[in-house]
Amino acid sequence: MTGIALYPGSFDPVTLGHLDILKRASNVFDEIIVAVLHNGEKKPLFTLEERVTLLKETTQDLPNVTVESFGGLMIDFARKRGVNAVLRGLRAVSDFEYELKITSINKKLAEEIETFFMMSNSNYSFLSSSIVKEVAKYNAQVSDLVPEPVERALKAKFQKSEG
Ligand code: ADP
Repeated sequence: MTGIALYPGSFDPVTLGHLDILKRASNVFDEIIVAVLHNGEKKPLFTLEERVTLLKETTQDLPNVTVESFGGLMIDFARKRGVNAVLRGLRAVSDFEYELKITSINKKLAEEIETFFMMSNSNYSFLSSSIVKEVAKYNAQVSDLVPEPVERALKAKFQKSEG
């Protein structure tokens, strides 16, 4: 029994690190639902629709991966979808404390939900959406960090904000 896993996050925007996790996990789980968080508090660079569209475009070659968005608590969304496995990526040690906190509270709130961690590919262990945005803002190369549609979308975003 491998079943369905939820891969939640902001994906603002999706990076090669996220895609690496998705590719590897899609060989393990029968199905993966990428759950894009609609977060009212953080101000994302990309709208929810843009983040979902970029994820759909860049996961087209993974037939068992679907993309949805959600608001509110992740465990409520998982329950609504009947999913009890949550997938998270772990990069440097700095991710650990945050993930431990979130996983512990989720366990308290929803005992049936298990969180699975996958170690980041060492090429991407310092890659984050925020780093990508910082680099792209100053017109530096991001082609090693994000898939092509995201590279184009970043260029368009920052050109627009300059002009
Ligand atoms: P969040 O705001 O929930 O951290 P992110 O979009 O930043 O959302 O990340 C979603 C998930 O992907 C998290 O589990 C995060 O640890 C993981 N992740 C982000 N970047 C990488 C990477 N470079 N390699 C592996 N996992 C990553």
